[in-house]
Amino acid sequence: MRYTETREQSAELLRAVVALMARHEAAFNPLSYAVWYEYTAGTNAALKHALEACLQATPQLGDDAIARLHAQHIDAADGPALQRASGDLQALMSDMAASAATTGRQAGVFGEQLSGLTDALRTSDTARLAPLLDEVSATATGMKQAVQALREQVEASRLEIDRLHGDLSRARDEALVDPLTQVLNRKGLDLELQRMLQSPSEPGRMPGVVMIDIDRFKGVNDTHGHVMGDRVLQVVAQALRTGAPAAMRLARYGGEEFVALCAHCTPEAALAEAEAMRLRVKAIRVRDRRTKDVVLTVTVSAGVAMAQPGEDAAALVARADEAMYAAKRGGRDRVCAA
Ligand code: GH3
Ligand code: MG
Ligand code: MG
Repeated sequence: MRYTETREQSAELLRAVVALMARHEAAFNPLSYAVWYEYTAGTNAALKHALEACLQATPQLGDDAIARLHAQHIDAADGPALQRASGDLQALMSDMAASAATTGRQAGVFGEQLSGLTDALRTSDTARLAPLLDEVSATATGMKQAVQALREQVEASRLEIDRLHGDLSRARDEALVDPLTQVLNRKGLDLELQRMLQSPSEPGRMPGVVMIDIDRFKGVNDTHGHVMGDRVLQVVAQALRTGAPAAMRLARYGGEEFVALCAHCTPEAALAEAEAMRLRVKAIRVRDRRTKDVVLTVTVSAGVAMAQPGEDAAALVARADEAMYAAKRGGRDRVCAA
């Protein structure tokens, strides 16, 4: 269980957390409560560290900062859900195995009693027959109950297994998603890229990779702080994704770098897609939440590489990266082909 504090301990935490929440700008919602609760309880070292770094930059934590801390240090920390679910599954299996063994043992006793009864019948030992019949009858009743209990347990376990199955596939999907931007993470990218390179393309079409890097992003952090930097990463990811063909997969490659995968694409279509993404990012207007004034705009440089026959994922990504650097050298805010 994630929280092990007693009712009394949690009541004390509640008072401290409410006081902290009152001192900050974020809404009084469960996200904010969870962040301040785990911070106050001292049970999440990574969250504490990140939260204190945020406080250095911005003494008043707003909704964005809270959402980011929650996504990165509470949701993400729940990643081991996969392990938890498989632990649950193992416990379930051993319970079932124990019940089956009990039923099996009872069946063994029943078998022995039946053969005793057969012997008594064969030798016409009527004196032994009556007590044996009583025993067999009692065991048969017990067996009936045990089999019924096993049947019920099998049915309950089947439902539980279905639920765990759902948990496992959700946890697996979450493990492939970047918590900040909600696009694929590096692991998700590697899997998609392998899949893309292995699936056959029609003549004239091939897998394409677009490497996208935010221009002068360090300046955004330096001028506006990391919280704003994170918000920019989120809106850029959204702009890259919005309006892209459904087949295009987007991943966060690293800090402020994204990769778009175009499966079965022509070089012209991949370049056009990269150009459209560049323009969508350029159209972003990040506004101050209160004054609504535009506080910053953002551009990206992109490099496009189309897979050559027999080329592996690393070589293809490296060529897209080189093309992206050519776009940087060319003056940024542009797309170059490998
Ligand atoms: P260029 O146009 O040459 O790409 O310049 P740049 O400033 O974007 O590149 P540089 O590699 O010098 O800086 C990247 C910055 O991205 C530095 C790092 O602090 C920031 N960054 C990386 N990951 C994150 C993140 O998750 N959140 C925030 N806020 N900043 C990040
Ligand atoms: Mg970079
Ligand atoms: Mg950059």
